[in-house]
Amino acid sequence: MLERLLRYADKQLHFGELVTGVRDRRHWSHVPTAEVVKAVLEMFFARLGSLNALEKLNHLSSWKNLPAHSVSADTIGRVVEVLDSSSLRASQKLLYSCMKKNKQLVAPLHGLIALALDGHESHCTYNQRCVGCLDRDIDGKIQYYHRNVTPS
Ligand SMILES: [Zn+2]
Repeated sequence: MLERLLRYADKQLHFGELVTGVRDRRHWSHVPTAEVVKAVLEMFFARLGSLNALEKLNHLSSWKNLPAHSVSADTIGRVVEVLDSSSLRASQKLLYSCMKKNKQLVAPLHGLIALALDGHESHCTYNQRCVGCLDRDIDGKIQYYHRNVTPS
């Protein structure tokens, strides 16, 4: 089923072009960026909750037919951290253009399309902080965390 979804995405939305257009800031790479991006998308399409859940499926014979079956959770995590945001935005723009061209984003009569915002807290810790950390007081102890909001 997931294979069919990926084929459909490639045919309708130029999935292959979307993922190969994404770059990262690694100087040397054993795993192509596109494989990592495909793995992340497969995780979302399969509605898996984590990269580790995705990695656990790598041994399944049905999963081996998927393009990015052999990328480890650690590798995905490292590469996603250094993805080039401008190439990601370019791929998102291409996706948006394809969806508009395919009439998958039809605006109502007033011409406005709703934008849904989805907020996530990626992690929290009491032990470490970086320059991008937010902090909050939890029972007198400072907790550090990251939050992101994504339009969908
Ligand atoms: Zn941080």
